Amino acid sequence: LGGRISGAVRQMSNEIIIDDKVLNDCLNEITRALIQSDVQFSIVCDMQKNIKKIVKLNDVAAGHDKRKIIKQAIFGELCRILNPGKASFTPRKGKTSVVMFVGLQGSGKTTTCTKYAHFHQKKGWRPALVCTDTFRAGAFDQLKQNAAKAKIPFYGSYTESDPVRIAVEGVERLKKENCDLIIVDTSGRHKQEAALFEEMRQLSEATKPDLVIFIMDSSIGQAAFDQARAFNQSVAVGAVIVTKLDGHAKGGGALSAVAATKSPVVFVGTGEHMDEFQVFDVEPFVKRLLGMGGDWSGLVDKIQEAMPMDQQPELLQKLSEGNFTLRTMYEQIQTILKMGPMSEVFSMLPGFNQELMPKGSEKGSQTYKLKRYLIMMDSMTKKELDSPNAELMNESRIARIAKGSGSPVEDVKEMMEAYKRMAKMWSKASKGKGLNISKKISK
Ligand code: GDP
Ligand code: MG
Repeated sequence: LGGRISGAVRQMSNEIIIDDKVLNDCLNEITRALIQSDVQFSIVCDMQKNIKKIVKLNDVAAGHDKRKIIKQAIFGELCRILNPGKASFTPRKGKTSVVMFVGLQGSGKTTTCTKYAHFHQKKGWRPALVCTDTFRAGAFDQLKQNAAKAKIPFYGSYTESDPVRIAVEGVERLKKENCDLIIVDTSGRHKQEAALFEEMRQLSEATKPDLVIFIMDSSIGQAAFDQARAFNQSVAVGAVIVTKLDGHAKGGGALSAVAATKSPVVFVGTGEHMDEFQVFDVEPFVKRLLGMGGDWSGLVDKIQEAMPMDQQPELLQKLSEGNFTLRTMYEQIQTILKMGPMSEVFSMLPGFNQELMPKGSEKGSQTYKLKRYLIMMDSMTKKELDSPNAELMNESRIARIAKGSGSPVEDVKEMMEAYKRMAKMWSKASKGKGLNISKKISK
């Protein structure tokens, strides 16, 4: 997914003019990628509409400003969808809370119950577990073993078959034992679905939980919305936990669960073990969803690595003054050559991508071209390199540089043309709000 989204954005970066068609193509590609990542179709469609609105609202002349706005809009929209606008109930230490876990068989309820208890226990709560799954053979043993391992009190029965009775008795007993966080694990399967939801409704009515958490396996894909909605119709879901994020699933279903229950994701499960459990954070999750290792945040790190911090203020100063001299280009090319994967780096630098990266050309030849530019510039005088005036480079100077660097005159002229176009774009970028690199670096 990440590859496809960044590919779509990069494709857009190659286009000099971002018109509606380019934007639509880009958004369509991103839509397809998000749907493949299990984000629900209607959510993606809404998102697409919103992004178009946002881009229109912020309509600006400079091409790469628009790209930045689109990238930010995608990120921002996904974050917004994951934020239902209200926090979930948070248990308070010392005050008894009942939390009920619901979800289909295999979603990870029993495992997550223990993780949740263990998490709070470490922070000083007195949690306890109640097993009301009388449907599955061995359910009580599983919870008992988990609880014993974590030294957490538990309640259940081998003989009682009424889950509601167990729940009521268990909650009562554990309250008496001064447990302040009583976690009710439930069954996820029944002979008939309707019976399962009826059981959840009865359990909720009998135990009056402060919070019902819907447990969702991140690999269930597009089924997430209907599943979450079905549970939410029988009990008032107040929070979501997404499990098995350590697998291949990107977790797009979490957006559906939030949309269907209007409740936030509170934790994620990232493995079978007790400690593989984390508080949910929207931004890292969206980054994962977008595969933002490549040319999103990762690239900023790369640029930071390649550009020593102490050189940046100078460069930015120069650029803000609009002085994109040949020496600036020289330094920029050196930086780029240090950075590695060309295609990724180019898309970050205004001007470089279009001017120096003809579509479909070999990586080797791009590097070669840049190295040739450096050799040509090595034959320039200090004055030539530092002059903000490209007109200084008359025919005789160009002829001298061509001879000195062993290049055809045509190549030197081509480099000068590239320089002029880049200088123009940089000055546009620094005058507008579009100096995206500087903003990212200074963050
Ligand atoms: P329940 O039927 O909803 O109670 O689900 P269980 O808690 O019994 O879990 C079903 C299976 O999923 C078990 O094999 C668990 O070890 C596994 N599981 C639960 N959470 C995670 C997780 O976050 N990551 C991985 N890899 N496995 C998990
Ligand atoms: Mg279970």
